[in-house]
Amino acid sequence: MFEKILIANRGEIALRVIRACREMGIKSVAVHSTADADAMHVRMADESVCIGPAPSSDSYLNKAAIISACEITGAQAVHPGYGFLSENAAFAQALEDHGITFIGPKAEHIRIMGDKITAKETAKDLGIPVVPGSDGGVPDFETAKRVAEDMGFPVIIKATAGGGGRGMKVARNAEELEIAFRTARSEAKAAFGNDEVYIEKYLQKPRHIEIQVFGDGKGKGVHLGERDCSLQRRHQKVFEEAPGPAITQKMRDEIGMVCANAIAKLGYIGAGTIEFLYEDGKFYFIEMNTRLQVEHPVTEFIFGVDLVREQIRVAAGLPMSFGQGDLEINGHAIEVRINAERLPNFAPCPGKVRTFHAPGGLGVRMDSAIYGGYSIPPYYDSLIGKLIVHGRDRPEALARLKRALSELIIDGIDTSVPLFHMLLAEPDIQNGDYNIHWLEKWLAEQLG
Ligand code: ADP
Repeated sequence: MFEKILIANRGEIALRVIRACREMGIKSVAVHSTADADAMHVRMADESVCIGPAPSSDSYLNKAAIISACEITGAQAVHPGYGFLSENAAFAQALEDHGITFIGPKAEHIRIMGDKITAKETAKDLGIPVVPGSDGGVPDFETAKRVAEDMGFPVIIKATAGGGGRGMKVARNAEELEIAFRTARSEAKAAFGNDEVYIEKYLQKPRHIEIQVFGDGKGKGVHLGERDCSLQRRHQKVFEEAPGPAITQKMRDEIGMVCANAIAKLGYIGAGTIEFLYEDGKFYFIEMNTRLQVEHPVTEFIFGVDLVREQIRVAAGLPMSFGQGDLEINGHAIEVRINAERLPNFAPCPGKVRTFHAPGGLGVRMDSAIYGGYSIPPYYDSLIGKLIVHGRDRPEALARLKRALSELIIDGIDTSVPLFHMLLAEPDIQNGDYNIHWLEKWLAEQLG
């Protein structure tokens, strides 16, 4: 087992990894930008190294500085968290070249899944059902028009290098397609340095259902059921739950086994998420994330496993501590993402937190790196915490979420907490009756 792990991240996810390290008797190293000298992850780790100035391109994305920090501190492995370098194949490769273990999948698997067209082709070859669409990249408008007309409108144009909900454009007819195709390409070029796009059928009322998978890299693959992450704003998740209110045990077993078998066949190591759109009883692959997800705690709650501990174990060459037969769902879990932003426009609003009081009690988990007196820097993601609750069933989890939200105090800055108070009062949310378009539609009605 490793003696020391460096965490190439910040915020709540850095704390999450430090906690797993501490329980396993492993020393932790935090890295930070100059803007994060007072951050909680720096205070909580055993050691810390400043890796550069505030902009993440100069610090949290600075591969050379992170590798130097490993060498200075003697860290044998790096946990990348999510975001930043977590899906950067070149970083995984560079670490390996320096004899440092990347706690995540092989560079080759990151590369395959990071390119959405290759990912889709690989999924298809592995027997995973995919969204109908173009055969690979679409080079020009004429081809786009032909593909869309054959398939039928509406369609969605997506960047092959896309991520984070960016680089997607919907077109309902040929006129819209022309504009959408050109803007999607130029936006993809600007955001990802790659203007390749592809086309998919735009599904009208799907749910976003994702399957948590785990592999040992030696041919063993398991699935840990699904999460329903359909409540999204601008293709970004805000509320996630497990199990999915619309998914039966039979459906879970079927799609879960398809995913577990694919992971085994790939020889995939560590945690991954296979994302689907689900409509009228059918699953359609959209992409695979080769890392730990923000919403992993809902899965941890219902299965009673520590996914970070497991990631560290397999990276160190140890066997997985559970098999498919050990995994049984216990109750229901819900996560809400708390962002430093002001409603109704969701404008980011960093600033000084005057008071922070986290809720507690049975079945409540608050993953956050803020504290009273902490100044949230303006340079990074607006996620400042995740509140996760667990109950024996969905109604209990919902009641617990309401109670926990009422205990939570974050003073001094605006947050997305009021949104969740409002959402919990909605019959559709209480009934689990929503799809990927529900939240945007509701927001338009509520907030104007
Ligand atoms: P990203 O990598 O940017 O997160 P995804 O491919 O995972 O992009 O898609 C993000 C979200 O966009 C999905 O959860 C869904 O809400 C929406 N979306 C993607 N593809 C389609 C599609 N074919 N039809 C309808 N909605 C889609």
